[in-house]
Amino acid sequence: MNVDALKEIVGEGGWSCSPDELEPHLTEWRDRWRGRTAILLRPRSTQQVADIVKACLAKKISIVPQGGNTGLCGGAIPDDSGQQVLLSLAKMNTIRDVSTTNFSMTVEAGCTLAAVQAAAADVDCQFPLSLAAEGSCQIGGNLSTNAGGINVLRFGTARQQTLGLEVVLPDGNVLHGLKSLRKDTAGYDLKQLFIGAEGTLGVITAATLKMFPAPRDVRTVLMSVRSPDDAVNLLAEMRRAFSDQVQAFELIPARAVNFVLKHISSCRFPLQEPGEWHVLADVAGVREPDAFEELLAGFLESGQANDAVIAKNAAEADELWRLRHGVSEAQKKEGASLKHDVSVPVASVGEFIASATKAVEEEVAGIRVVAFGHVGDGNIHFNLSVPERGDPQKFLAMRKRLAKCVHDIVHELGGSFSAEHGIGQAKREELERYTDPVAVALMRTLKTAIDPFNIMNPGKVI
Ligand SMILES: Cc1cc2nc3c(=O)[nH]c(=O)nc-3n(C[C@H](O)[C@H](O)[C@H](O)COP(=O)(O)OP(=O)(O)OC[C@H]3O[C@@H](n4cnc5c(N)ncnc54)[C@H](O)[C@@H]3O)c2cc1C
Repeated sequence: MNVDALKEIVGEGGWSCSPDELEPHLTEWRDRWRGRTAILLRPRSTQQVADIVKACLAKKISIVPQGGNTGLCGGAIPDDSGQQVLLSLAKMNTIRDVSTTNFSMTVEAGCTLAAVQAAAADVDCQFPLSLAAEGSCQIGGNLSTNAGGINVLRFGTARQQTLGLEVVLPDGNVLHGLKSLRKDTAGYDLKQLFIGAEGTLGVITAATLKMFPAPRDVRTVLMSVRSPDDAVNLLAEMRRAFSDQVQAFELIPARAVNFVLKHISSCRFPLQEPGEWHVLADVAGVREPDAFEELLAGFLESGQANDAVIAKNAAEADELWRLRHGVSEAQKKEGASLKHDVSVPVASVGEFIASATKAVEEEVAGIRVVAFGHVGDGNIHFNLSVPERGDPQKFLAMRKRLAKCVHDIVHELGGSFSAEHGIGQAKREELERYTDPVAVALMRTLKTAIDPFNIMNPGKVI
């Protein structure tokens, strides 16, 4: 492929063909996918992105947008033809505008999520999207996957936190949609097409996002509970007592705690001893700490919780959250694992975990289930680790069978096989199997209408 025209568009420092530089961009976080590329482009402006897309369209070269490459479904990894262009947004990392009266900010797609959060914090505000990969993932990638994370309970997913988008379309035109309006019913809400599209409909170059007042008086509590059902009941009681102030509510099983303590030396466990299950919750705006403590004391007295610790300060709260955020990394270090990012109605979480655990244990003796995550949203990461002393390759070869086991149960419970990580290359079959055929046909119609030559991230999602 002749890439000279593309090099010219981005100029010196805006491209690379060096194998060493390309390497980290060609493998996925868990090493599940590996691709090749003709060139890595790092445009600095929306105009450069538009020129790249036009040049690629003219030669029918396909483009794979890439943010922080922390996605877990292979969406940002090119195929192995070596003919696709990899488009990194990393150099488009300017915070264009912050408004403390409109409670909004306009940022370029390549800003890391941590940088966006910091820009909001600088003006005593909060951008509440938060997830373990926030130091490296980029806002363009967050929007393209409709990322969720730990604060969905109160603030919704990336979709609900976005006011406007700037997008380079597959024909090179720019959709100038950086509105900062709270109300706008002028026709279709086009931004929502690109949020969660995983780069298959265009390249997001900038976004206008909602900010919120910085949270005050946040209480972080870790409790051990008997079962996921008890966790769900505690959530309901906490919400009744504190309404929308409950902003995060996470489930952590004993096995996840053990993995974290084994593999991440900086983490420590503050309860006397791990219970079977734990809940980590953030409640904001607790102006009467006594009322909060009374509620927890009630949980302990009634046996709904066995033990509890409230962080005394921000450092202790961070320590508790490190435990939760370390689960994915610790499980990776523990050996081969299979992930299922599913959601069910919150009330069905207990039933789902029990049925799916039974089903996979019948398939693989000694399989180690780690069911953790955003229980407050009904989103469980139902992850499976290879049995101790088991053969990792043999275990990974069970991927499809185990996924069907888990996803069939999710489907029966009215849930989703893809709660927050997206489809990428990983779940295209599932999309066909579990999604209403009318919806799948409509997605295809939209894809063909917007990207008739299929140059935007082909082979992903649909
Ligand atoms: C340890 C760990 C924890 C995680 N926890 C969570 C979690 O709690 N919640 C959650 O939702 N996710 C989580 N993830 C998954 C991942 O971090 C998110 O999906 C994140 O939003 C991806 O952002 P990224 O910038 O890394 O995107 P990438 O991985 O680079 O790309 C993801 C997809 O978006 C497309 N894309 C990227 N940038 C653009 C753009 N500018 N325009 C158009 N398309 C684009 C890519 O082509 C690809 O299809 C976690 C990942 C890790 C490794």
